[in-house]
Amino acid sequence: MQKTVLAMQSLLPDEMSELETHFRVIRLWKQRDPEATIKEERDNIVAILSTYNATRVSESLIEALPNLEIIAQFGVGVNNINIEAAAARDIAVTYTPDVLTNDTADIAVSLVLALARRIVEGDMFVRVSKWQNGPLPLGTTMAGKTAGIVGLGRIGQAIARRLAAFDMNIIYHGREEKQDQPYEYYADLTEMASAADFLVVSCTGGEETKNLVNYGVLEALGSKGFLVNIARGSVVNEEDLLIILRNQAIAGAGLDVFAAEPHVPEAMLTMDNVVLLPHIGSATIETRTEMGQLVIRNLRAHFEGEPLLTPYQ
Ligand code: NAP
Repeated sequence: MQKTVLAMQSLLPDEMSELETHFRVIRLWKQRDPEATIKEERDNIVAILSTYNATRVSESLIEALPNLEIIAQFGVGVNNINIEAAAARDIAVTYTPDVLTNDTADIAVSLVLALARRIVEGDMFVRVSKWQNGPLPLGTTMAGKTAGIVGLGRIGQAIARRLAAFDMNIIYHGREEKQDQPYEYYADLTEMASAADFLVVSCTGGEETKNLVNYGVLEALGSKGFLVNIARGSVVNEEDLLIILRNQAIAGAGLDVFAAEPHVPEAMLTMDNVVLLPHIGSATIETRTEMGQLVIRNLRAHFEGEPLLTPYQ
């Protein structure tokens, strides 16, 4: 008999079909009464396919599924999963690192470019025929400027490599210095923000980094500084950011992630010193396909008694 996977969200159609050739899949988002379905299927469900923007894998959900063996996350950030509750029950957790690194780093660089060179503003300027009345205000040169990376992990390093190719100086902050990296390390985030022209946030989300980028850090970035966040909305204190943006205490912000997605603070929608994206770091056909394949291969490996391809921790 096929094992039952509780899917919180769909993979791309081809991957979903492939998943269904190996497993019996319950599409939770399609259920009229998801809670009732979970109750009915509690003994059958042995795996969860989870993702950051769907039903959370909470402690109570884990407790409600006595035969759960594995949680396969579609994504690299796992802050939607109660990792401690899974570990306490010896439930395996897998995720999809590396395959999304390049695309997500590209989005960070796109935001740096968009802010520095007023790309989005310029497009609007042409479309609403403002060009006839004079030129767009001048932008900012990237070459020679300093990018401060918050969280020099897989994505942070890919961003650093890309921005270095734009002749930018790279510095970084994290919990500890990385001996194998050529860039200058700052143990103190506020100090790094003072030294940076662009503060690019690419660290892990979750409780540990909640509101890491607060009023003081943003103030230190200064009125000519730009913030880019592709990590998680929770890492930047959104209320502090709104105040700072309103007061033009930084030059602008490029955001792919928000505290309560898909909600974006109303006030941001009318600000012209922000560029707003709908969480598209990994959103390409190629990467989403690879992420889906990795989810399937991890699930199959687990139930075939093979080593997991990408276990979390
Ligand atoms: P990673 O390799 O684990 O890197 C995460 C980095 O965060 C590490 O280098 C770590 O540095 C740093 N970090 C952790 N805790 C920190 C703290 N308290 N203070 C400062 N830095 C801290 O992960 P990744 O693959 O690069 O992914 C990073 C994050 O990007 C994911 O967790 C996810 O939330 C986000 N992401 C977003 C998108 C999108 O669509 N926008 C797509 C993919 C990923 P130290 O160990 O040195 O502290």
